[in-house]
Amino acid sequence: MTPPAERSLRAREDHASHPATVSAIAGGASEAVSSPETEVLARVGALLAEHDPTTTSEVEFLGAQYDAGLAWVHFEKGFGGLGLGPALQEVIDAALRDAGAPSGADRNPVGYGHGAGSVYTHGTDEQRRRWLRPLFTCEELWCQLFSEPGAGSDVAGLATIAVRDGDEWVVNGQKIWSSGAMHARWGILIARTDPTQPKHRGITFFVADMHAPGLEVRPIREMTGGAHFNETFFTDVRIPDAHRLGGVGMGWSVAVTTLMYERVLVSDQQEEHAGAQAIALWRARDDRTSPVALALRDRLVMAWVESEATRLLLLRAKSLRSKAEPGADGSLGKLAVTRVGQQLANLCVDLSGPDAVVDADYTPHGGKFGDRAEMPLPRRFLNSVSSSISGGTSEIMRNIIGERVLGLPGDIRVDKDVPWNEVRRS
Ligand SMILES: Cc1cc2nc3c(=O)[nH]c(=O)nc-3n(C[C@H](O)[C@H](O)[C@H](O)COP(=O)(O)OP(=O)(O)OC[C@H]3O[C@@H](n4cnc5c(N)ncnc54)[C@H](O)[C@@H]3O)c2cc1C
Repeated sequence: MTPPAERSLRAREDHASHPATVSAIAGGASEAVSSPETEVLARVGALLAEHDPTTTSEVEFLGAQYDAGLAWVHFEKGFGGLGLGPALQEVIDAALRDAGAPSGADRNPVGYGHGAGSVYTHGTDEQRRRWLRPLFTCEELWCQLFSEPGAGSDVAGLATIAVRDGDEWVVNGQKIWSSGAMHARWGILIARTDPTQPKHRGITFFVADMHAPGLEVRPIREMTGGAHFNETFFTDVRIPDAHRLGGVGMGWSVAVTTLMYERVLVSDQQEEHAGAQAIALWRARDDRTSPVALALRDRLVMAWVESEATRLLLLRAKSLRSKAEPGADGSLGKLAVTRVGQQLANLCVDLSGPDAVVDADYTPHGGKFGDRAEMPLPRRFLNSVSSSISGGTSEIMRNIIGERVLGLPGDIRVDKDVPWNEVRRS
């Protein structure tokens, strides 16, 4: 059986050696073979020819990629895109990766994953012009300020208050689990602007300046040893009304866009290396015949089957996603990727035996997201636990799939139509 990592590598090689691809990258796309794919690959070829990734700075390269419409190909021209189908982004990213081009996705995951989609979908042209390019070049990093100590799964119940004062809003309250907030320049924030409305209706969506006076970020140490997320406190923080995304009181619909993008981001992160690592660990074992070894082999095969089924599910979801904005399929992908990721991390630990509990480097890795393939196994195992919580828990994903995909009866929501300030809370 070919490990998923090897197989995906081969698929990429097959793609790169396709004659249309080669000719397009070399700038040889002709009218006869013109298609959206050859068009974007010709643009990739031109970008690489004009900005050699080995000698161009990352900021300059990413800026040129944005200007060429190759940042988010489904966005409009002038905003990092070309107005083409979202599936083409993968073609572009694969060609750039093969050419050794830089990517900001690991450094600015909230920006790339859900900040950009929220700004693009709900922002004015002026807001898009202000924020999208520096987000893509990673000159400005982004974080997400949704969860609160009393509002996680039920984030619409949030208590951070924004009160209008002329052309500004004054924000008071506390957010928690704000990943990367200590490095961020901007934070996507939801706050309550009308407590007399039921919880979903009185929320407004802002882009908060993380350097504003009154905004304080305090790190939280995780069980992995890292400290990538934070508590964020707002004390009379002023946000210009020009930094509001969407209408006053309409923040919930903007937040739904954000959450959909976030779940697609997670489902795009299927850890193919974990499958390859499990197979390598199995092959490295001296004992492959004892009852314990055979039980491990059973689990390895089951994990491989589930991993492969998840890969195909994601491919299908992507090919069906004709619209630029993701839908409930992101929840399906997130649930599946999380489950198989945790299963593989557990299996790798069991295959490694006592080695799996030794993590020589327990220094805080200060919020660097980095490549999970390079994370030591003990840390990756501990990290995998959080994946069924971040971006919405697996129980919430099941609720969404049940209601929106399968059409099952909805969750019981006793406070749905009650004004937020009349809902009893502890
Ligand atoms: C690694 C990591 C990074 C994160 N980064 C960010 C970030 O950058 N920004 C941000 O705003 N937040 C972030 N979060 C927070 C995350 O979104 C919340 O932790 C998550 O939404 C769950 O909320 P909670 O922790 O308050 O748990 P709760 O909502 O209190 O849930 C507790 C338990 O009850 C279950 N539960 C709750 N409601 C239901 C229901 N209706 N039906 C069935 N079961 C239910 C949950 O599934 C869970 O098991 C991050 C979390 C993690 C772990």
